[in-house]
Amino acid sequence: MERYAQPTSVKEAVELLAADAWVMLAGGTDFYPGLGEGPVSGPVLDISRIDALRGISRDDDKAGWRIGALATWTQLVRADFLPASFDCLKQAALEVGSVQIQNRATIVGNICNASPAADGVPALLVLDAEVELTCVRSTRRMGLSEFLHGNRQTARRPDEIVTGIFIPGNSARGSSAFFKLGARRYLVISIAMVAARIELDGADLVKAAAVSVGACSVVAQRLSGLENELTGTKPEDVSSVPDARHLDCLSPIDDVRAPAGYRLDAALEGVRRALAACVEDRS
Ligand SMILES: Cc1cc2nc3c(=O)[nH]c(=O)nc-3n(C[C@H](O)[C@H](O)[C@H](O)COP(=O)(O)OP(=O)(O)OC[C@H]3O[C@@H](n4cnc5c(N)ncnc54)[C@H](O)[C@@H]3O)c2cc1C
Repeated sequence: MERYAQPTSVKEAVELLAADAWVMLAGGTDFYPGLGEGPVSGPVLDISRIDALRGISRDDDKAGWRIGALATWTQLVRADFLPASFDCLKQAALEVGSVQIQNRATIVGNICNASPAADGVPALLVLDAEVELTCVRSTRRMGLSEFLHGNRQTARRPDEIVTGIFIPGNSARGSSAFFKLGARRYLVISIAMVAARIELDGADLVKAAAVSVGACSVVAQRLSGLENELTGTKPEDVSSVPDARHLDCLSPIDDVRAPAGYRLDAALEGVRRALAACVEDRS
């Protein structure tokens, strides 16, 4: 390794990023497998000692929830103060690799790695997650769908660190669920995964719905046509609304894990199951 730095503050980290091109390291569970048999190329900026990046909490102005860049999947699962709308993200957390991976890997690392099969992304999309990026001069926020540009591509500039994820309070409402299909039950890369969130109104009808599918396009997609059609539906009817035309925005590939047609079938079944799970106490 050419050079290794382990800053203890965001200020120190962004000053290093402003001066040089670094490869960032958090939990390392994508970073190290990504090396294959090769050595580390380029200087490594290990952010794992920056205490300000830890934790999951209410945002300072109580407008929403903040997931720090070093928050792990296990910390998320154990965050019993989070509302039920986070259940989809917690269920996704329990599907990320093994317990050992969940103990080490960060939620922010999952989105920065920008794999089409990143299990955290569909759940974060239905929570309308915003990504916070910090450089020496400024901090900016953008929606997760703007942040994700493609396979392993994001809107992060080389001098920026992702300091956290923000979930707006208005989106942290209702109930939610996650569905994942892989070639086996456990420790597997997704063939298709779905997150859904449903908010009911005073008359017990769907007030707002959010549905997202991953591993069936280069970046996970929200199904806005379906979301609109779900509005005003009775809880007992939500799982019968989705059909194949709602998946038109997806573009799955054929690969060793599954053919494209199978992925679409799995996604449709996943959408129905996730929606049914959101309302299972009400229907
Ligand atoms: C055995 C195994 C099983 C796995 N199973 C799954 C699975 O089922 N589902 C799934 O989705 N993933 C899975 N993964 C992938 C991985 O565990 C997750 O994507 C994890 O959340 C990555 O987090 P990390 O902290 O380890 O990221 P790292 O490996 O540290 O970093 C990942 C990438 O993000 C960048 N990065 C990290 N933090 C920041 C930051 N704050 N700002 C800017 N860039 C940053 C790094 O530079 C790197 O490019 C698995 C990995 C392994 C090894």
